Amino acid sequence: MKYFSTRGHAARPAFCDILLGGLAPDGGLYLPESIPAVSRAELDAWRRLSYAELAFEILSKLITDIPADDLRDICARTYTADAYRHARAGEDPARIAPLRWLEPGKLGLLALSNGPTLAFKDMAMQLLGHLFEYVLEKRGETVNVLGATSGDTGSAAEYAMRGKSRVKVFMLSPHGKMSAFQRAQMYSLADENIFNIAVTGMFDDAQDIVKAVSSDAAFKARHRIGAVNSINWARVAAQVIYYFYGYFAATSSNAQQVAFCVPSGNFGNIYAGHVARSMGLPVARLILATNENNVLDEFFRTGVYRPRKASETHVTSSPSMDISKASNFERFVFDLVGRDPAALVGLWEEIAAKGAFDLSGTPYLARLPEFGFVSGTSTHADRLTMIRNVHARYGVMIDPHTADGMKVARQYLDDLPTDVPLLVLETAQAAKFADTLREALGCGPEIPVDLQGLEALPQRVEVLPPAVEAVKAFIAERV
Ligand SMILES: *Cc1c(COP(=O)(O)O)cnc(C)c1O
Repeated sequence: MKYFSTRGHAARPAFCDILLGGLAPDGGLYLPESIPAVSRAELDAWRRLSYAELAFEILSKLITDIPADDLRDICARTYTADAYRHARAGEDPARIAPLRWLEPGKLGLLALSNGPTLAFKDMAMQLLGHLFEYVLEKRGETVNVLGATSGDTGSAAEYAMRGKSRVKVFMLSPHGKMSAFQRAQMYSLADENIFNIAVTGMFDDAQDIVKAVSSDAAFKARHRIGAVNSINWARVAAQVIYYFYGYFAATSSNAQQVAFCVPSGNFGNIYAGHVARSMGLPVARLILATNENNVLDEFFRTGVYRPRKASETHVTSSPSMDISKASNFERFVFDLVGRDPAALVGLWEEIAAKGAFDLSGTPYLARLPEFGFVSGTSTHADRLTMIRNVHARYGVMIDPHTADGMKVARQYLDDLPTDVPLLVLETAQAAKFADTLREALGCGPEIPVDLQGLEALPQRVEVLPPAVEAVKAFIAERV
């Protein structure tokens, strides 16, 4: 399998060549040259597999430059009951992504947040940690991962890379802007290869610094700077796996269809659902849920894609979905325009010139039903209502992001055929967002035993001004 850029660059790298980096040389996003098809016979055989075995089968269609035995071993070491030990009462940690029915056969929660940091980012980042280690060892190389986080990505990356001898992580976060629990998760890591940098500014300042450092080609090459941001193809590939796993858990035969509802921000999670569906998974609907930052809902309702300015981005109680532009969306639009790089480049030129593009009235937009997409928006009041409802009706605590998904799922639930179960992806555990849970329920969530007292541990963080040179100097001294 070779990969290519959405913007048409001539290079055709293999999986391991794009693993450590970010954008393609032309600023596009990498995609496999063709989407591998999964046959009905394969689906039948896969139904019985463990998560790690299923991961191997799916990944081996997308990764052809790692020998099969090695890839199987990487999957077995990644998806372990120990790594996913934050399974809740009644869930089997060995299932990695257990399905919890709220209404049997009709409405369920697919638990993607049982990993080390209690958010679905672990599902992909844990695999990335093992893949990085493997590829760097083979090549005798090292990498310095530079990233910016407003919460979940940074901790997932650090927990995946901690203690890896060929990787150092430099993670920028906005000083004083994350929850006490999120800060404690990152800053209490004592591993020598983890460097936390709190920038006295907003998340966007941190993000801009990462972009500036990454676009300095000389600095990047000299210090072997790599990326693990949400456009990383390996993260998308890893996320495809749980759509198959959730499908098998929710159905008894491959003649059945399911629908997924996905709390969305950068469009990475639901895009993986689109890939799974394109491979042949029987998915009736992909339901996209946004919070007040509804740039994606606007697109799916009107055909207009208008990325917002940072100043137009709302700070909400589902912060991991507070995005102004959806970085993976380009991959989806590429499919929508018939995988034509020239058409894709034209649309992004329109964004640069006019701030938006409009597909209404074009044949492209007519494809959306064919792709199974629908969408909706949820607000702070909706989140509180859904947290209360789900707790009262089913005795289950959901986090604010999953609550956004539940709100939009409810909107579409009754339209689905009765034999199509709807799975809401649970993207974080309630324990991560105690304040909002308390606001909704009057009582806080239970904190997993091994994370109690986390906030009292000593913390390691360097506070720096939001200046590119300061960050460069910090990195240069430590690599
Ligand atoms: C990152 C994140 C999301 C959004 O996922 P995307 O892949 O960016 O669409 C939703 N919920 C939580 C808890 C997250 O951490």
